[in-house]
Amino acid sequence: METKERHEVINFSPGPAKLPCQVLMQAQKDLTNYNGTGVSVMELSHRSQDFNKILTAAENDLRDLLDIPSNYKVLFLQGGGTGQFSAVACNLMNLREGQTADYFVTGCWSAKAAKEAEKFGKVNYVLPKSNKYTSIPDKSEWNLSPDASYVYYCDNETVHGVEFQFIPDTKGVPLVCDMSSNILTRKFDVNKFGVIFAGAQKNIGCAGCTVVIIREDLIGQQMSNTPTVFCYKTQVGNNSLYNTPPTYSIYIMGLVFRWKKEHGGVEAMEDNSKQKSDMIYKIVNNSSGFFVCPVDKKCRSRTNIPFRIGSQDGCDVLEKKFIDEAAEKGMIQLKGHRSVGGIRVSLYNAVTVKETQYLAEFMEDFLAKHRN
Ligand SMILES: *Cc1c(COP(=O)(O)O)cnc(C)c1O
Repeated sequence: METKERHEVINFSPGPAKLPCQVLMQAQKDLTNYNGTGVSVMELSHRSQDFNKILTAAENDLRDLLDIPSNYKVLFLQGGGTGQFSAVACNLMNLREGQTADYFVTGCWSAKAAKEAEKFGKVNYVLPKSNKYTSIPDKSEWNLSPDASYVYYCDNETVHGVEFQFIPDTKGVPLVCDMSSNILTRKFDVNKFGVIFAGAQKNIGCAGCTVVIIREDLIGQQMSNTPTVFCYKTQVGNNSLYNTPPTYSIYIMGLVFRWKKEHGGVEAMEDNSKQKSDMIYKIVNNSSGFFVCPVDKKCRSRTNIPFRIGSQDGCDVLEKKFIDEAAEKGMIQLKGHRSVGGIRVSLYNAVTVKETQYLAEFMEDFLAKHRN
């Protein structure tokens, strides 16, 4: 295979995804000798002062970025978003008698979370069942249960490209949200949530760490058989250090948080996110059905844009051509998820407006060349 330089590639991966170059340069510096300690950042004890500073700074920067109130705890755990599908149920299913939880299923990730929760209690499906995952049904179709321990939803479905443009009103029932693929891409009020979690590898770092933000009063009612590493009470009591945390992933995440702060914070990330996604959707919308995004306009994701190309029968040929020609121009990871097919453009914070522009120009050219 032909070798490439970093600057020759634009990585539109859905995750693990592109990291800011500045973050990688800093990580390169710290790789063999962290901050004059004579050891790699990977070789620091998780109980050392030096690592404690990394952990504290990462937490404080995240608190600043999201304006997290003091009655919320922040954890840095392992097990990915998937681990939290189980952890959420183990820790919260017991909040009310009846052990019932309400799940909004709007794509494959929330479907998986609901399935996992069924192991620990009763799951009530809020939305009419569907396997299309292209819209969020109107409020009038919601079936919320009166005695739910919590209400769960996925803010942005990374595979299907369905993103909530509002926070569901649960009438006081704790709200749990998977923000793995859109955390720090827009402002929101943390006070509206009971638990928020996000795996690092999409928009805030490299794989290995999952951030969990929990309202204090929800901690401590876990089921008695909750695995200790997933027990929020134990992890909060030990400041995420009950067992060895993913130290390197936390370090990278800390660098990413600092980078976001230095680049205008969440407000600037939100502007960028809008600008980039608008650019791509505009081409899709104006292509007279050449590019087809199946998702309802009211809930189209800003970070993961799925679309098909051309009429149904010619689809596969044109899509392959699109992916191959894009790759020749250095634009990679544009293939849609195997369950959806077509193209998926992932536009996390590290992907720049200029890079998105380059893709937009390619799409315009492709459209002009192939439309009948
Ligand atoms: C990727 C993803 C997950 C799963 O994360 P893992 O780290 O692979 O367990 C969960 N939810 C969403 C929204 C995701 O995008």
